[in-house]
Amino acid sequence: MTFPTIAIIGAGFGGLCMAAELRRAGIDSFTVFEKADDVGGIWRDNTYPGCGCDVPSHLYSFSFEKYRDVSLRYPEQREILAYLQQVTDKYDLRRHLRTGAEIVSADYSEATGRWVIRTATGEEHVVDIVVSAVGQLHRPKLPEIAGREDFRGAAFHTARWDHGVDLTGKDVAVIGTGSSAAQLLPHVARAARHVDVYQRTPNWVVPKPGAEFGRFTRWAFSRFPFTQSLYRALTYFAADIALSPVITRGWSARPAEWVARRHLRRGVADPALRAKLTPDYPIGCKRVLIDNAFYPTLNRDNVNLVTDGIAGMTATGIETVDGKHRAVDAVVYATGFRTTEFLVPMRVRGRGGVSLDERWADGAEAYLGMALPEFPNLFLVHGPNTILGHNSNIFMIECQVGHVLNCLRMLSGPGRLEVRPDAMREYRRSLEKAIGRTVWDGCQSWYRTAAGRVTNPWPASTVRYRRLTRRSPAAAFRVTST
Ligand code: NAP
Repeated sequence: MTFPTIAIIGAGFGGLCMAAELRRAGIDSFTVFEKADDVGGIWRDNTYPGCGCDVPSHLYSFSFEKYRDVSLRYPEQREILAYLQQVTDKYDLRRHLRTGAEIVSADYSEATGRWVIRTATGEEHVVDIVVSAVGQLHRPKLPEIAGREDFRGAAFHTARWDHGVDLTGKDVAVIGTGSSAAQLLPHVARAARHVDVYQRTPNWVVPKPGAEFGRFTRWAFSRFPFTQSLYRALTYFAADIALSPVITRGWSARPAEWVARRHLRRGVADPALRAKLTPDYPIGCKRVLIDNAFYPTLNRDNVNLVTDGIAGMTATGIETVDGKHRAVDAVVYATGFRTTEFLVPMRVRGRGGVSLDERWADGAEAYLGMALPEFPNLFLVHGPNTILGHNSNIFMIECQVGHVLNCLRMLSGPGRLEVRPDAMREYRRSLEKAIGRTVWDGCQSWYRTAAGRVTNPWPASTVRYRRLTRRSPAAAFRVTST
């Protein structure tokens, strides 16, 4: 099949899912453009010590290629990367893969009804369909701290871990206390002489079930493999039923807060330290941490939680607003990602040369997170308002890829497939209503733009998202032949 020709941008979970599903649908006319030298996305980029996933392994895999393991409950970075490489090979995706090919621009030509995409090296490709699957958590955000450039020791972001730097016996500063910091801190604290952890806002932290399955589960998984699928289904529904109400302050919010407070009490004995670690905003406002090692690590003699704001950095360390200067050998920026910029730095122009940057000047949005009026034949995987903090993002990706395939089925030949402005307006209305019910305006987080617009997470249950993406796209999209 040579129509439509499809460019997939990014070879992480989203891009590989799109590619594998196209192969499964018998479509071979696609290329996956990847800026790095291999597949894996964030699971290739994040190699910090302790990097793993707090979503259970069995759930954190494609439904058409279920992860099977009889012993491990949570996957580590290496296992996830190996899984993605295995999917790439099994579905024969390497022959579709162009590595070292960063797409810098995509322009829609009304004359031909096709997209012209360009790589950083100046190559040009003309395709019918573009699927951008660049993710939301891949561009490191370095903090804007006065004097940051002056620091003369080792300094790197969690997603760009410098394995050439040995932290053994060193004095280290970790800036940030999100999921990445919580995972790496126990490892850094064990190696370093001293660690200062700079916390701006405390997080809600809930306990993580044991990493290994018990004996009975291991036996059942080995003896009756279907029980692994059953476990996958159970964890999925349990998360949707019990955790998604947390974001709307629903029935499970108070029990979740209670569990988190008890976890803090059990993990940290010192009341002063506990007070510093107690959030003053509703649970679910920021991504909840699922972790057992962060609190105990803060009790260590060689770890110091600093809650005074950072005033600046010097050649030798970090100065806080109380005038204290703490000298360190290395600084780890666990400061998160540029989440609200979405396709940046790619320059995308749709019909009539309309720029995506201009369309998104007040915050990114897309119909079901996937499509925009005036940008025909362009689809986003993991686009605006599709990321989850309470269930598996792989599930959301599969919903999106399924919807894209249904959209492609509407095209019997060259044509312009575009979401209708009224469908976009209606979707925006219902999305805003759902966001209005959440607790996300109760704090500052990477879910929101600087102006306060929530552009990243999905505000309801994943069952609802599945229902919306399973509907025929015929009512929302129009096809014009070109
Ligand atoms: P993050 O959650 O955005 O955390 C960044 C941390 O840096 C926050 O504590 C933030 O404080 C702090 N920070 C940012 N700028 C600062 C500044 N100028 N001064 C002081 N502190 C500053 O980033 P992340 O930990 O890399 O995680 C990002 C997301 O990746 C997570 O929310 C999660 O969705 C995903 N993730 C998932 C897993 C998993 O196991 N599934 C593991 C790692 C990451 P404020 O809170 O005050 O902004």
